[in-house]
Amino acid sequence: MILYRLRCAKGHEFESWFKDSKTYERQEKKSLIGCAVCGASKVERAPMAPRLGKSGKKVEVETPVAAPAAPTTPSPEQQQMAALARHMPKELREALLKVRAEVEKNCEHVGTKFAEEARKIHYGESDKRGIYGETSEEEAAALAEEGIEFGRLPWIPRGN
Ligand SMILES: [Zn+2]
Repeated sequence: MILYRLRCAKGHEFESWFKDSKTYERQEKKSLIGCAVCGASKVERAPMAPRLGKSGKKVEVETPVAAPAAPTTPSPEQQQMAALARHMPKELREALLKVRAEVEKNCEHVGTKFAEEARKIHYGESDKRGIYGETSEEEAAALAEEGIEFGRLPWIPRGN
């Protein structure tokens, strides 16, 4: 897997994962890569910029479902989810927790490898099964572009 930084004709820059450089070239030639910002299919490779502090990562849960891994100290995203959970109606919170429990019971947790595993399953390199884990906006956009099905749900913490 390689990560390319891409730029559309309007100058939006975004990152996308590709299986290899050939896959990128093929998708680029067929205009299969859409700009993550405006959807324009004319993109080119932009020079890799050094990573700044902010990763732009959001807690987005995917079904087969992505959920944040559980570090010992809550990440800003998890704190945000906790705050969200505190302010949502009780019924909604309970419904989300129910979904979470179902997912945990029936799906395999793949953590941050979600995008990688979802691809493997999609391309038949891994057994077809339900998985959940976490992924970034960029990876989610790349998966969607490749026609890989997944869903997202807010992964709210239990017990509040
Ligand atoms: Zn654009």
